[in-house]
Amino acid sequence: MRDGDQFAIALPAPVAAVLDALASDGHEAALVGGCVRDLLLGLTPDDWDVASSMPPEAVAARFPGSTWENRFGTVTVRVPGAEQGIEVTTYRVEGGYRDQRRPEEVRWGQSLHEDLARRDFTINAVAWVPDAAHRGMGRLVDPFSGATDLDARVLRAVGDPDARLTEDALRLLRAVRFATRFDLSFDPATEAAIGRHAAAAAGLSGERVHDELRRILAGSTPPSVAFRLLERLGLMQVLLPELAALRGVPQAKNLAGDALDHSLRAADALPASDPTLRLAGLLHDLGKVSTQQAGHFIGHEAVGAQQAESLLRRLRAPRAEISRVVRLIENHMFAYSAEWSDAAVRRFVRRVGADLLPDLFALRAADDVASGVTSPAVGGLAELQARAFAAVADGPLDARHLAVDGHILVAELGLAPGPEVGRLLAELLEAVIDDPALNDRDRLLKLARSRATIGPS
Ligand code: ATP
Ligand code: MG
Repeated sequence: MRDGDQFAIALPAPVAAVLDALASDGHEAALVGGCVRDLLLGLTPDDWDVASSMPPEAVAARFPGSTWENRFGTVTVRVPGAEQGIEVTTYRVEGGYRDQRRPEEVRWGQSLHEDLARRDFTINAVAWVPDAAHRGMGRLVDPFSGATDLDARVLRAVGDPDARLTEDALRLLRAVRFATRFDLSFDPATEAAIGRHAAAAAGLSGERVHDELRRILAGSTPPSVAFRLLERLGLMQVLLPELAALRGVPQAKNLAGDALDHSLRAADALPASDPTLRLAGLLHDLGKVSTQQAGHFIGHEAVGAQQAESLLRRLRAPRAEISRVVRLIENHMFAYSAEWSDAAVRRFVRRVGADLLPDLFALRAADDVASGVTSPAVGGLAELQARAFAAVADGPLDARHLAVDGHILVAELGLAPGPEVGRLLAELLEAVIDDPALNDRDRLLKLARSRATIGPS
């Protein structure tokens, strides 16, 4: 497929309707960017982006109910029957890029060619111009030979790679994401430029880096492929120095390699559908760098949890993601044996938190795979997992599930509401965790009476 070739595509009716409506008003309208690239690859696009010569005000007026993001002239058009909005962007050409973050100024451009010229990589600088949109008939517009690069599996910057990467340092990360997602090799000039500009990634906002890393982790290509590339290009050292420092940290594991190889294998062993869990796998051994001593890494889970927290704060990760990853790292080093009593299993569950169990067992299973360890049938991970889930089902492991509560204690023991009530409840919970048969109103009240320091007058 080449620039100007006829290219018949399967186009959702709402998208065709938007293209037709723009054309019938006398404006140019084309599909652009990722969706055209995906169609060339025979994939179904996730989102459909339209570029048009119609100014944003007019697009917003033409499609009632659309929302307009002023600064970039992107109007999200809502069409009946379409699940998602369709983004219509007026042709644009960027102005200066002083801060290497975001285009400072967006001038409305004149032509589709100019619009494509400001995009990052040739594979994304492609467009489809309809002849008859409702029949999926149209032509490929590909002034930078993106289709040829896609065929040859090459990632190449549009025009001068130094200029493209200086305009927006996020393209350094996007390069790695696209290369791994579509199994592309780098055009040598583009790769050399990425290496030269790697340090500029330090100036990116945490949010933008976090978003790219999440997309990499959510991809179907094993994350190790992308992270090895980030390391090779010098980007890991700039963006994730704590992770890069695991290179060369020795490991006495069944599988060869150092602590970074192990961490990458752990991320690979976790599901793409849960990028946060993959992140926990990637970061779970950060603490090994500073705790290594004579082949041991004592306390690396606590040190590593702190490092992961500061790393994720730097990336402005959402609070819930930070706390989930940090808790997982903190708790990943439990040792189990078949001799554990049921009470010991219940105390383990209470310490970790029942809500964390599925993730924690998934992380430990990945850690084992990444170490080349197979867990024994008896006294192994699967056994603890079964016992822990049974303990959760039998309960109670939480003061809320006791057969008495604070109000009952106050009423029955004639206590004043206050810290004493909380202390008593905690003691009752400890007693019930040791012996679940005690979780009965009368037995707990009797126990509480014997333990209360301020009895009824
Ligand atoms: P995805 O399939 O992950 O959405 P995409 O290629 O569609 O990937 P988007 O971020 O959705 O990427 O952007 C849509 C298009 O806009 C891209 O294909 C590219 O042409 C252009 N684009 C997006 N971000 C940049 C950027 N930082 N620099 C240059 N062009 C960009
Ligand atoms: Mg997209």
